[in-house]
This record gives sequence, C-alpha cells and structure tokens, in this order.
Amino acid sequence: MKLTKSLVAATALLLGAGISYAAQPKVIAHRGYWEAPGSAQNSIRSLVKADSIGCFASEFDVWRTKDGIIVVNHDPTINGVNIESSTADVILQQKLANGETIPTLEEYLQTAQKLTIPLVLELKSHNSNENERNAIREILALVKKYGLENRTEYITFSKNGFNTLVSSVPQGVGVQYLSGDYIPAQVKQMKGKGIDYSLKVMRKHPEWIKECHDLGLTVNVWTVNKPEDMQWCIDNGVDYITTNFPEQLQQMLKK
Ligand code: MG
Repeated sequence: MKLTKSLVAATALLLGAGISYAAQPKVIAHRGYWEAPGSAQNSIRSLVKADSIGCFASEFDVWRTKDGIIVVNHDPTINGVNIESSTADVILQQKLANGETIPTLEEYLQTAQKLTIPLVLELKSHNSNENERNAIREILALVKKYGLENRTEYITFSKNGFNTLVSSVPQGVGVQYLSGDYIPAQVKQMKGKGIDYSLKVMRKHPEWIKECHDLGLTVNVWTVNKPEDMQWCIDNGVDYITTNFPEQLQQMLKK
C-alpha cells in the first residue's frame, strides 16, 4: 500500500484544483469496524464493514500457531487457549464474540482480495525471535499469494519483528513502529516509514509530528476514541488516526 504516494497524489490534485488546505488525517479502523452490528474485533465482518464505510485502511492483529498457521486475533489467547503454544486444530475451533470462527490470515486475505480497502497488519510480539521470523515469512508469502503486497503495511511493538519486517518486505512497503520509545530520527535510521504511537505518547511529544514530517516520516496515532482527542489529532496535523469509532471520525472530518 503506497499510503505516502496516495497522500502526495491527493495533495497534488488539490493544488492543481487551486484549493490549498492541509491534508486531512486518514481514518483507520482499529481491529476492523467491530462496533458495527454483528461484528467483533478482528472478525471477517469487521474487515468487510470497515471497507463498506470507506475507511482508509483496516488494522488487525496476527499470531502464529505452534504448527505455523497464521490467525487473526488480538490477545495471545482465545477463549483461554494460548495461540502460540497450541496447534491449529485446537485454535481453529475457537469462536469470536459474533459467532464467527477465528479467521486464519489466509481467510482474511481471501476476503480482502474481493474488497478495495488497504490493510494494516500488526505482527504481535511472539515468544522468540525465531517464532517471529517464521511468522513473518509465512505472512509475507500469503500476502504475495493473494496479490495484496501493494495494499498491505505492517506495524509491530517488537523491535526484532520490526527489523525483520523492514529487511523482508518488498521495496516501498511501509513498516511502522508502535512502542513509542524511539524518537523520529531513530525511526528514520531504522528505516521505518513512520511512527504509529499511542495518543498518550503523542500528547507528551506533539513536537514529534513536525519532526517526522521534516524527516519524511508519517504519523499515525492510536487508539483515538474521544471526540476531543480526534480533534487534537486533526488540529495537530497527524496523517492517520486509528480508532474504534471510524464513522464518528469520518463525520467529524466532513465538518
Ligand atoms: Mg493492533
């Protein structure tokens, strides 16, 4: 997904039309649009719903089972079963809150292929560097298989995962760091596309927004759910806002 490219293209279009105002933040649905009816966090439906309301992108989390199947889930456990130390035959029986079976990444990507929404894939921090490397290899193979390399970006809290992703993704594909413990210049040095930091971190370091932009880095803020926080992000010129309430943010941006 060439987020930066589309931003540049949109800006060029506006300038060409003689309109000059700062680019608005793009709306990213956090764990899909799971507040929608019949949806659940990280469900297939949450992805479909995020696409249907025209979110800029949909974020989701992935884990690797002991036997190498990548599944979509936020927590390290589902219904009390640890994903990383269990085999797929046990994990793939687990249901989400909306009755869906836990999606495999493959099922998720098969659905995404029929939609147009870009994806923000979060690699969760696994128990070992080896598990993360294996997960990344399998993730990238699946994304390639479904022709989604230009529509998928990556985020992670794991320093090892970040470095492995940076050196493994196709050229031009963005990887953003989530932990908030590196200043923009360090993220640039680490070859990140930008920072994807919590609202708490960004409220403490609003100067990082300009620093990032001066360095050619993007700024994504999570998880922004209150209207006053959404407004703060808009007023401070962040590039992407990740939220559990994408429709509310879209309404706010229309005003
Ligand atoms: Mg996530």
